[in-house]
Amino acid sequence: MIITSIEALRRRLLLSRMRGRTIGLVPTMGALHEGHLTLIARARAECKDVVVSIFVNPIQFNQPEDFAHYPRTLESDARQCSEAGVDVIFAPSAEEMYPCYLAAGDIGGAPLATFVDVPTLGDHLCGPQRPGHFRGVATVVMKLFQIVQPDFAYFGEKDAQQLAVIRRMVRDLNVPVEIVPVPTVREADGLALSSRNQRLTAEERKIAPMLYRALGIAAAGGVEKAVEFLQSEPRIRVEYLEVVDPVDMQPVSAEERPVLIAIAAWIGKVRLIDNLLVPA
Ligand code: AMP
Repeated sequence: MIITSIEALRRRLLLSRMRGRTIGLVPTMGALHEGHLTLIARARAECKDVVVSIFVNPIQFNQPEDFAHYPRTLESDARQCSEAGVDVIFAPSAEEMYPCYLAAGDIGGAPLATFVDVPTLGDHLCGPQRPGHFRGVATVVMKLFQIVQPDFAYFGEKDAQQLAVIRRMVRDLNVPVEIVPVPTVREADGLALSSRNQRLTAEERKIAPMLYRALGIAAAGGVEKAVEFLQSEPRIRVEYLEVVDPVDMQPVSAEERPVLIAIAAWIGKVRLIDNLLVPA
């Protein structure tokens, strides 16, 4: 069942809650792949009612081109959700989520007067490169939590900084939801599944697994070796390769344990991220 209005979704979920059914939420931006489906399968196994939100959130994009080109495939997403036993797809318009939103496609403007910000966790990694991104993510996830009021919400470790921001937000603001992290799903050659992979050319797709290999090199032999390895391929432009604490996302020495090694790199016009947790 696809629901596009907040009011209709609330009505549907009120019934679930009255019957004492646990609600699991899987927030996505659509263009579903095996990574998303793994989150959904986990929610299906653990909750009575599974809600998948599909919303390309304008306020977390800082490049109009990225927002415009983000794949939108609601029909095939709906088919995959139904095969995966999803109870409700929540697919609101931008205007439904941001009633003050001026015109479709406008990612500037002032869609809200209230935002959720977790600034210290956004100091490093993707934060400096994508101003306002994590504020946009935290705000829309908080809105989804208020709308759906899930018992459990599922997030991929692929977006480790996003996961850390959401966990901190939930803790700081006493949001009554349990955050469930799900390990990164990869292609056989190591490339982390991402909706953005679709935009790689065949040649770019061949070199994309170098990002994950670089993380392994960094874990074993240091960040410099990993950067050298990536510099051997001129079509890859590294944005960052950093070692941080897995909880507060602050830089730490590569010898510490546990650490998260995270990378963002451009391959042609596509920006990809990945990370590796090196446990204690
Ligand atoms: P997105 O639609 O890209 O915003 O992703 C929605 C959710 O799916 C987020 O919690 C992501 O971390 C998660 N996700 C995306 N790709 C993967 C993957 N390869 N493995 C596991 N989870 C993923």
